Amino acid sequence: MADVFMHTYHRLPVIFVKGEGAWLTDTAGKRYLDFTAGIAVNCLGHGYPPLVKALSEQAAKLIHTCNYYQSDAAAAFAEKLVAACSGAGMRRVFLGNSGAEANEGACKIARKYSFKKYGSGRHRIVTLKGSFHGRTITTLAATGQDQFHRNFGPFTEGFLYLPPGDVEALDRALDPASVCGFMFEPVQGESGILPQDEAYMKTAARLCAGRDILLIADEIQTGVGRTGTFLACEGCGIQPDIVTLAKGLAGGIPVGAVLAGEKAGEVFETGDHGSTFGGNALAAAAGLVVLETVTAPAFLAEIRRKGEKILGTLRSWNHPKIGDIRGRGLMIGVDLSVDAWPVLEAALAGTPGLLALSAGQKTLRFLPPYIIGDAEIDQGLELLRNCL
Ligand SMILES: *Cc1c(COP(=O)(O)O)cnc(C)c1O
Repeated sequence: MADVFMHTYHRLPVIFVKGEGAWLTDTAGKRYLDFTAGIAVNCLGHGYPPLVKALSEQAAKLIHTCNYYQSDAAAAFAEKLVAACSGAGMRRVFLGNSGAEANEGACKIARKYSFKKYGSGRHRIVTLKGSFHGRTITTLAATGQDQFHRNFGPFTEGFLYLPPGDVEALDRALDPASVCGFMFEPVQGESGILPQDEAYMKTAARLCAGRDILLIADEIQTGVGRTGTFLACEGCGIQPDIVTLAKGLAGGIPVGAVLAGEKAGEVFETGDHGSTFGGNALAAAAGLVVLETVTAPAFLAEIRRKGEKILGTLRSWNHPKIGDIRGRGLMIGVDLSVDAWPVLEAALAGTPGLLALSAGQKTLRFLPPYIIGDAEIDQGLELLRNCL
């Protein structure tokens, strides 16, 4: 293990050298079934042939031009992405490299929209407790968890955190004199796969629309088919003003996107924002393969079916160490009566190994690649049962 990295991650004792489909191989040749997809990133699994082909061909043709020029790959990707999000009302896109960068862009759009229309003082952005919006100083400030607000202050001002689901608190907090945006995850990912109540989201959308506050859906983990519709918002019948995407968007190549609809699509003007790498030709070529694959209705139906299969199997066990089981599509949380970390370590140590994630101390989180097969699902769940 290389010991020159900063100690930012609680890393498990394994070094991977190769991936194929839903499987990874380590330096000793041992195989691991992947229920993490690199935290919802490798959504088409490892070594997906059309993705490998598109990347190889694009790398040989053109990897990058700065954003003062358009590449044919970026143009095709951006058009397809806006079309995929048009059902949720999206009209324009800005491409960056990560989720945090996308959320930074969303905050800038919300603030400028309000500043231009109403002048200063209306800069607040309301977010939810338990949320996760990124690791930059501003997106940490947006993240409604105290544990992230140590050591790095002073943070960007103007964020306010509400308990999810509390309509009265929301009604009070969405003050049109001081608030320009409300940012939320349709399903909170990092804090335990916690779906927002649908009626609550609809109320939030109505309140925001009535007060000209921009509704920002952070779909960085829930988007790109993860919950069984291309955007989770679509599944809940919500039309946000801004949507942010990253993680699965290019199947493992870094790309992030902030999309905006009618209201906010023209807010950014020349010189307002930029990103050197954002949406370069290589990332766009990868993103195009993901979009071509994941937007197909039959493919999305399979994500929903596989998710239901996992939920159904877990529930059928009536396992004494398993509490609540919940999820949308292939985004699944399993509450345990014991700590999740030792279970993950045991799963890794098994033969074959199983890779899964935690979300909070006692919740297991499964984000398998969409291409996982039924037999692999059964095998992975059986490996999990042995560890429990
Ligand atoms: C992962 C994640 C982010 C941050 O994305 P990065 O690419 O790590 O910057 C933001 N919001 C949500 C909901 C996420 O899951």
